[in-house]
Amino acid sequence: MDKPTPKSANLFQANRDRAAPLLKKLRADGIGHMIDGKIVPSISGETFETKSPVDGATLASVARGNAEDIDRAATAAALAFKSWRDMAPAMRRKLLHRVADAIEDNADDIAVLECIDTGQAYRFMAKAAIRAAENFRFFADRCAEARDGLNTPSDEHWNVSTRVPIGPVGVITPWNTPFMLSTWKIAPALAAGCTVVHKPAEWSPVTADLLAKLAKQAGVPDGVLNTVHGYGEEAGKALTEHPAIKAIGFVGESATGSAIMKQGAPTLKRVHFELGGKNPVIVFDDADLDRALDAVVFMIYSLNGERCTSSSRLLIQASSAEKFIEKLTARVKALKVGHPLDPATEIGPLIHERHLAKVCSYFDVARQEGAVVAVGGKAHDGPGGGHYVQPTLVTGATAKMRVAQEEVFGPFLTVIPFREETDAIEIANDVRYGLTGYVWTNDMGRALRVADALEAGMIWLNSENVRHLPTPFGGMKASGIGRDGGDYSFDFYMETKHVSLARGTHKIQKLGI
Ligand code: NAD
Repeated sequence: MDKPTPKSANLFQANRDRAAPLLKKLRADGIGHMIDGKIVPSISGETFETKSPVDGATLASVARGNAEDIDRAATAAALAFKSWRDMAPAMRRKLLHRVADAIEDNADDIAVLECIDTGQAYRFMAKAAIRAAENFRFFADRCAEARDGLNTPSDEHWNVSTRVPIGPVGVITPWNTPFMLSTWKIAPALAAGCTVVHKPAEWSPVTADLLAKLAKQAGVPDGVLNTVHGYGEEAGKALTEHPAIKAIGFVGESATGSAIMKQGAPTLKRVHFELGGKNPVIVFDDADLDRALDAVVFMIYSLNGERCTSSSRLLIQASSAEKFIEKLTARVKALKVGHPLDPATEIGPLIHERHLAKVCSYFDVARQEGAVVAVGGKAHDGPGGGHYVQPTLVTGATAKMRVAQEEVFGPFLTVIPFREETDAIEIANDVRYGLTGYVWTNDMGRALRVADALEAGMIWLNSENVRHLPTPFGGMKASGIGRDGGDYSFDFYMETKHVSLARGTHKIQKLGI
């Protein structure tokens, strides 16, 4: 590992100094639910502990919500709905910009808390709050147009459509980059005029608590954004079953998505799912291989590989494979695993001991299947003794192996060589998932052909994943249902209503004469 430069050593210390009083307060206060504008314990009085992946230290005692708490929150969201829906869009816009201001004002606190709660490295979390604020600003500016519809006149009628918010909605989020992801769901829901009950992941409740408090501080009315903490099978399940909740925006595993669909069926919930991925990055031999290498490394080893859009399968054209893998191996060996608050760190500890065990189990799977663990393949002894893992590179894999089919969700890259364009497409599509695909080639015809053929909701050509908020975000197959972003989000959180006005001239059938 490189020695820290004085600048990075200073920032590391500054981050620790910033985190210390915040953590002290968190331990003293604990985390309660935000229901109807008040921080409250669970009705049952039950709590659970959230621990840091860095050293296993308890960060806070967290209220453990169940169906009773969800009922309170859903009732508050239902009561607040009418006035939030009917608030002038300009006023809603102003309030959502104020939330963005509050997030920006607290960006440094949010960054260090997110690092300690999730193990994500500071270099990636430093901007997470800024991106979250952008989500609020982007949708705040669209509050007025959210209602827009179409004018489709016919011979005898003037037909217009408009959109109205669907009602109180549930938002259920996972533990990877939880602050940014929850704003991605909550901001468009609020801009659309929906009220929200948020159930954050039990492994990362800290910044969800902060978001609820910042929204309240910014003047968002009581009951408009409620947060209930707890386990998926208790609070999460109850939220998906509650009759007052009209839709569920969910980000998480594919299996959980299936469970939510079942749970929501009796109350006919509308669902939007952003689920798992096993995304291919296809590198052809005519590509700019240096840029491709940068993108390949970034898209699987950033954010601890705990990233739905990670390019976890590298499909490399056989003619370039040897050289490319040699360079890739050197880069993976040089990745810096360390404390998440250290700005030099590229990979921090994984979120939880259970997740560490899951990721490590794939090292044996790779060996048993006859693939080669070329780099890594072990847990890592990092600062604090937390859930660190060595960044891992598996070569010599074939398309049907479990390491080429299953989502590992860690810093774990599986390399599969291919010969022709058609082989690459076949291998790329031969998985149950279909979230993203990345293609590297300087043959533009081929880039477009492959983009067309890939079964994935989002394709990047000669690029890593770069999010642009108006574009559709979401997956095909087991990777999801529905799209987020721009107007796509409003389609989910709103009902489209058709209004038809007769010109007064058309013939109406006369019965009973
Ligand atoms: P998870 O499915 O285990 O949990 C996600 C959330 O669902 C948590 O809040 C959890 O408490 C809740 N939950 C669990 N069971 C539930 C139930 N029966 N009813 C209602 N809620 C329930 O996922 P995770 O392990 O927290 O997150 C990792 C997964 O999320 C990965 O598969 C990853 O690919 C996926 N993900 C997808 C995207 C995307 O945009 N497609 C983005 C980020 C993460």
